[in-house]
Amino acid sequence: MISKKLVCLTCQKQYDIAPMFEGCPACRERGVVSPLEVTYDYDAVKARLDLSRWISAPRAIWKYEDLLPLSDPAHAVTLGEGDTPLLRVRTLTEASGLENLYVKNETCNPSWSFKDRQNAVGVSMARQFGFKRVTTSTTGNHGASTAAYAAAAGLSCAVFCHPEAPRVQHDLIRFYGAHSISLKDRRQFLSTLVRDYAYYPCTGLTPMPVASPFGVEGYKTIAYETVMQLNGRVPDRVYMPVAGGHGIYGIFKGFRELRSLAVVDRLPRMFGCQAEGCNPFVRSFKAGQREVTTVRNPASIALSIRDETGGDCGLNAIYDSEGAAVDVSDRDITRAAQLLARGGIAVEPAAAASVACALKAAKSGEISPRDLVVCVVTGAAVKWPEHLDRMVEEPIIHNPNFEELKLALWL
Ligand SMILES: *Cc1c(COP(=O)(O)O)cnc(C)c1O
Ligand SMILES: [Zn+2]
Repeated sequence: MISKKLVCLTCQKQYDIAPMFEGCPACRERGVVSPLEVTYDYDAVKARLDLSRWISAPRAIWKYEDLLPLSDPAHAVTLGEGDTPLLRVRTLTEASGLENLYVKNETCNPSWSFKDRQNAVGVSMARQFGFKRVTTSTTGNHGASTAAYAAAAGLSCAVFCHPEAPRVQHDLIRFYGAHSISLKDRRQFLSTLVRDYAYYPCTGLTPMPVASPFGVEGYKTIAYETVMQLNGRVPDRVYMPVAGGHGIYGIFKGFRELRSLAVVDRLPRMFGCQAEGCNPFVRSFKAGQREVTTVRNPASIALSIRDETGGDCGLNAIYDSEGAAVDVSDRDITRAAQLLARGGIAVEPAAAASVACALKAAKSGEISPRDLVVCVVTGAAVKWPEHLDRMVEEPIIHNPNFEELKLALWL
């Protein structure tokens, strides 16, 4: 059995794995709010590491079980998440001139976003701890994913949605059998449900007001897969869309762990990608601050990354990796999404932010043509029909006669 613990990111105190949702108790006594993260006995993991299993085992994150917080495999919930394609996309290669630009296509997850990796772990932990109910707050993707995994696990689920969450997301959440609640202050009732009604929070690890250190462990499997798909190579740069910053934190943690396990000997630079109309990480990064500031009245087509603020753990991943927080206009985001679609991959605007930032850096000459670059595209276009409609330019050709058809097809 591999020893697994929770460790405080501020005072380093360790705790046994337990349902702790308010950060480090020792720090809290001193009036400091500090997240906990999961740590492992890496020497023991290394001693029995079998990379061939990482490549050949069936699709699902549980093949990395030594590096995930669950202790009893009987509680592992899966819908076949992960093992998403790493692709070169024709249109992006043409537009950027980068030979080694890859897209990690997270739209291929069971509920069409990378959130499935987080919820596979989070809901499994809820089950291991004996919870019967889970809850979360969302702009759409996270809630649909939590609802799907709660359904797979047979747990009841309450999702608090951003007022602008699309109808399709509400429909999916309810189709999976969860309660969908539209609420201006999405976090208003979370702590009450967790403290007084035995709900497990499928949230990130930044206290907000309740946090779970477990789900984000799922994100690091993106790093494991990427390195395996690149035959052991480490990207020079990873571009990741950022809202709360848990995705970028988790992926960087995965690379750090691979280095601890001597699978790789270097780390990628992490680029946190945001929209110009909502760029708290970029503002803080440019000012050299350690805390993520808050942007009032955020505006962008990319709702999934339109969080007014985020967690310091994401910002630290950017600093520690010598990366940067970068932003792009909604026009750049739309154009990147259109390019991806013309290359065969249909993503939502937030997901295209990574590609848009990489294209911008390529254009400015910041990336050299041979650099190995991975853009994570985090969520699918199909769950955002209103946005999809705004990104499509070609009209539908209605009931043409043959002459009209010839004109329309340029024949
Ligand atoms: C949630 C989400 C993000 C941002 O993830 P964080 O962990 O909050 O930074 C990016 N893209 C999509 C599509 C998302 O659903
Ligand atoms: Zn502490």
